[in-house]
Amino acid sequence: MRMFLPQVEVGVVRACNQQCCSCNHMSPLAKPPFVMPLSVLRQDLLRFGQVAEIGKLSLLGGEPCLHPDIDEMIAMCRSTNVAKVVSIVTNGQLLGRMSERFWRTIRKIEMDVYPGKLSGAQIVYVQNKARENHIDLKIVPIGKFYKCLRSGKDETLENVQWRFDHCPTGHLCVCLDYGYVYRCPQASIIPPLFLHDQSSTVDGLSLDGITVEKLKAYLESKTVLKSCAWCSVAEVFLDWHETTRENWLKESTL
Ligand code: SF4
Ligand code: SF4
Repeated sequence: MRMFLPQVEVGVVRACNQQCCSCNHMSPLAKPPFVMPLSVLRQDLLRFGQVAEIGKLSLLGGEPCLHPDIDEMIAMCRSTNVAKVVSIVTNGQLLGRMSERFWRTIRKIEMDVYPGKLSGAQIVYVQNKARENHIDLKIVPIGKFYKCLRSGKDETLENVQWRFDHCPTGHLCVCLDYGYVYRCPQASIIPPLFLHDQSSTVDGLSLDGITVEKLKAYLESKTVLKSCAWCSVAEVFLDWHETTRENWLKESTL
């Protein structure tokens, strides 16, 4: 029997049109490829769908509305029937220029509203489009972010294990990325940025030859991820603000 996962995320665009300090997907540090090809996601979903049913598939980034084929991507995700609901998580700034096809295809939008970034008229426009198209719209006001990084160099194994054991993301943030499944998005993002002596997929499970047993064993494993040494979750909070690419690392690290 396939495993049921309530939520799975895919970062379909690594880049973003904002530069949020402590963006936990680390978009201000994003490196190419910035945009995930449709064929990659289709193949990942078809393989993952052999072993898992997804409650909600969230397309995010970065900013998913920057994807040139986002309409087609949403339609493709829905057509695989791997997930009950396909959602996008967006900062809302580009929703005013989305096509009619987009509004007809997407069924759920989670719109994060950052201080001063969206006008009242922009929010009303999205609310109206959502109502007309029977879209489940969730508006999330953002005020605080937690510092998402720590310097993992001097971390003791005990501290890292404690962080892993007490990680609030649990199994709720499973992520697919270029042929691998990860327990959390950070496990796919941190290694290529900071673990230069490791493979960028060190914390993931390959979708090649994946079985339900392998997936269950991976998700339930108590073995700490390499990424946990560099990750910080909900420990120190700061007021949301944007920063420069040069200052991002310093301001986002504990
Ligand atoms: S809008 Fe979201 S993805 Fe973009 S930089 Fe801010 S937190 Fe990151
Ligand atoms: S890297 Fe470790 S601490 Fe960070 S979200 Fe993933 S499991 Fe949790």
